[in-house]
Amino acid sequence: MKKLKYILSLVLFVTMTFTLVGCTKPQPTEDSHPLSKTEVIIGTVCTISLYDNKDSAIIDKCFNRLRELEDILSINKLNTELDKVNEMAGKEPVKVGDDTFTVVAEGLKYSKLSQGALDITIGPLVKLWGIGTENAKVPTENEINEKKSLINYNDLVLDEQNKTIFLKRQNMIIDLGAIAKGYAADELAKLLKANNANSAIIDLGGNIFALGNKPDGSKWKIGVQDPENARGDSIGFIEVINKSIVTSGIYERYFEANGKKYHHILNPTTGYPYENEILGVSIISDKSIDGDALSTTLFALGIEKGLEFIDSQEGVEALFISKDHEVYLTKGLKDNFNLTSGKYKIKN
Ligand code: FAD
Ligand code: MG
Repeated sequence: MKKLKYILSLVLFVTMTFTLVGCTKPQPTEDSHPLSKTEVIIGTVCTISLYDNKDSAIIDKCFNRLRELEDILSINKLNTELDKVNEMAGKEPVKVGDDTFTVVAEGLKYSKLSQGALDITIGPLVKLWGIGTENAKVPTENEINEKKSLINYNDLVLDEQNKTIFLKRQNMIIDLGAIAKGYAADELAKLLKANNANSAIIDLGGNIFALGNKPDGSKWKIGVQDPENARGDSIGFIEVINKSIVTSGIYERYFEANGKKYHHILNPTTGYPYENEILGVSIISDKSIDGDALSTTLFALGIEKGLEFIDSQEGVEALFISKDHEVYLTKGLKDNFNLTSGKYKIKN
């Protein structure tokens, strides 16, 4: 029941996001009415909208590709490739296909880069908390300590030549929740372009890829969700061409117990959700896998360290929203973010 409510609320959010994207078009033309389809897949609501191509077979190809990725990368389904890697933890390396190898390799890269603030071997803790499922609960201290000891990306071994993945210790689990939607968005963008659809919005549960430009040649206007308001209410918008916009936050996937909210981005050091001043952080990048990895990483690092970290990365921009209703922007966004809500102010 809880899950149904969660999915329904996501549907509403996506619908309203699109209303927003639609509303912000200065002069909608006949051609700008997209061909859209929505499905619940990879645990979230996914919508693909084509603006310059009316062939619904292309959208079907995209959803088939999403299903294919879910069938190999999920830890919520049985017999996925990732499941096999996790089952063979402590036993032997597992040969995998290109998708799994690429996503795990990218995940390992960002685990190293963030020094474990993002760690894709977080699986045991994610399963223990069960946030976003009907079984969400606050674990005991003993349970947390036991699972925490299983998390360490240094015990994840990739063999590039043989395309194998090995978790060195039994019961270790890789969870790609922090990055796989980004990879999926990039794959769909490639697929769309290969099928002559060059003006499209891919929305994978709020992970947006704005492909190409609008049919009239202008930029897409993408609303930034107000974390405290009804879904679809934005604090402002950015204008982009051919960019990924990915957000990590504490307001979509959480549960409440003993008067406290527990969100889903977990600190591998404490075993509890990260506690900091961030409501949400959005990353604008060329590749969505980078945006997805970085949004989770920056959430983990907090605003000050996050701003420093993102400055060291080429070609990516970030927008933080704090619990004090302050907005922090990287340099490249200062002329591109349009604040429309009076409740928030730009801080830097
Ligand atoms: P992000 O900020 O991008 O990532 C947060 C997620 O990353 C957490 O939910 C957790 O999974 C993981 N994580 C938490 N802390 C850390 C950390 N410190 N380091 C690294 N990772 C961390 N959800 C369902 O409810 N049902 C499903 O059937 C389902 N199937 C899925 C199938 C696939 C292939 C994938 C990739 C995910 C699936 N999910 C499912 C999860 C869901 O779609 C999203 O991954 C989840 O909502 C988090 O995405 P996000 O963008 O909101 O958060
Ligand atoms: Mg992420």
